[in-house]
Parts: sequence; structure tokens; C-alpha cells
Amino acid sequence: MADSLRGKGAVITGSTSGIGQGIAELFAREGANVMLNGFGDKAAIEALRGRLEKDCKVKVDYHPADMSKPAEIAQMMARAAQSLGGVDILVNNAGIQHVAPVDEFPVEKWDAIIAINLTSAFHTTRLALPAMKAKKWGRVINIASAHGLVASPNKSAYVSAKHGIVGFTKTVALEVAELGITSNAICPGFVHTPLVQIQIEDRARELGITPEKAARDVILAPQPTKEFVKIEDIAALALYLAGPNATQINGTSISIDGGWTAR
Ligand code: NAD
Repeated sequence: MADSLRGKGAVITGSTSGIGQGIAELFAREGANVMLNGFGDKAAIEALRGRLEKDCKVKVDYHPADMSKPAEIAQMMARAAQSLGGVDILVNNAGIQHVAPVDEFPVEKWDAIIAINLTSAFHTTRLALPAMKAKKWGRVINIASAHGLVASPNKSAYVSAKHGIVGFTKTVALEVAELGITSNAICPGFVHTPLVQIQIEDRARELGITPEKAARDVILAPQPTKEFVKIEDIAALALYLAGPNATQINGTSISIDGGWTAR
């Protein structure tokens, strides 16, 4: 356990699973008070919250706000300001995926992906910025994707939302640049989380191959290292962006994708 974020309050959306949980765990270990958010089994979420609070000796709160519902997002942000002693670090991570050609893409899936993967970050950020501006310190870290920089077929909503969040990241960066606040995006390639496991199983079923073969030959095809990005490595990058050496990193998109976007 280290102490680089001691006394900071961090909201991490979608932190009951995958990348968000990894970031929440590392930030708590580094001394941040953390707001967990996301769906899942109530007992498992409470076990995670309790374990982090006890092991890391920080305040860990949980709010079940649905990131597609602006009123719930506002409730979560207000609660975080109280229970964490302020929101100094905002990690916009919650996200979902749906894969289909544009002309078959379910309208409700498009709306949900844009709401959760893009619009929720507008709401959390607009609500976090006034206090960050007053403190003259803040970190906004958006978990975009390689799909924020390049496209793949059948992911129109996801690619649109992720390109959108890269643009949003830059706009916020310019607005707050003189106020001690930075806004950056992390663009991971494929990470083996539940979001990707669903895609592996779907492709294996469609192609009549094993999930292992689908992961290696289909999912990882665009990722030159042919290895999944590790959650811990993304969390460490987020920690760097939250830390004292990152004050001049602003408005950028950092790829962590095994070389995918070097093509
Ligand atoms: P995950 O499915 O493991 O976790 C997603 C989290 O978001 C969960 O906690 C879930 O409960 C939460 N969530 C989903 N819908 C929500 C809603 N409406 N309101 C609140 N919370 C909600 O996924 P992950 O792979 O860890 O993805 C996290 C982020 O990283 C996403 O934005 C995703 O697009 C991005 N990303 C993932 C990969 C990858 O390969 N896994 C690659 C690049 C970017």
C-alpha cells in the first residue's frame, strides 16, 4: 500500500467489474477515497466495498446510479462530494458494447451505448468541474478505446461514442487548462474482461471454433502483440495521469493497445 493519492476523492464509474474495478482497487491502495459504481450482485459489491475500505484504510462508498439516467448520475455525484470529502479525480469508465451491422443495429442499443459510453461522461464531468475549479486541482480520466481512434465493422455505436469521448476529452482539456485540471483519455486495445468475453463467445459460436481460437485468431487479430492488455497496466496508467508528474499531459489520448493503432 502506498500513499500517492491520500486525501483525494475519486469517482470511478462502472467499477464493479473489469477495468473500472482494477482502477478503483489501485486508487484505494494508493490512499484515495473511492466511489464505486456499476451493476452486479449486491453482496459481491458490498464485499468489494468492505474489503477495500478495511484493507486500504480509506472511505469506499457505492452508488448504483445507472449511467444512462442523468438524474441518477447527479445523485451519485452529490453523494460522492459528501462522502469522499470532494471529487478530485473522475474516471469515466462505464461502458457497454453491441455488435451488429448499421442497418440491423437495434435503435435502443444505439441509444444506450451513446448514453452510457459518451453522454454519462458529460454529466459526471459537468458536475465535477465546479469544485475542481474552486480547488484549482482536478483530474478527468476517460476510458476511451482503440475504437476512439480507429474503427471496426459492426461497432458503429461504440466507435461513435468512443470517438466522441476523445473529442470531449480535448474540449474539456482546453477549457480547464489554466486551472490545475487535466483531462485525458486512455485508449486500450482488447482487455480480457466480461465485456470482451461475450464477444469471444459470440464469435466462437458464429464461426464454430473454440473460444480460445476465437480469442487468438479473431478478437486479437488487430492487436499486433496478440496478447490482451492487462487491467493492472491500465490502472497504473490511470494512476500516472492522476499523479504529480502528469500536470502537463492534457487533452491527449494515450494508446495502450499492443500496437493496434500503429498500423
Ligand atoms: P465490464 O463489462 O467488465 O465492466 C463494465 C462496468 O460498467 C461494470 O461495472 C458495469 O456494471 C458497468 N456498467 C454497465 N452499464 C452501466 C450503466 N448503465 N450504469 C452504470 N454502470 C454500468 O467492461 P470493461 O471491459 O471493464 O470496460 C470498461 C470500459 O473500458 C468501457 O468503457 C469499455 O468500453 C472500455 N474498454 C474496454 C476494452 C476491453 O477490451 N475490455 C477495451 C477498450 C476500452
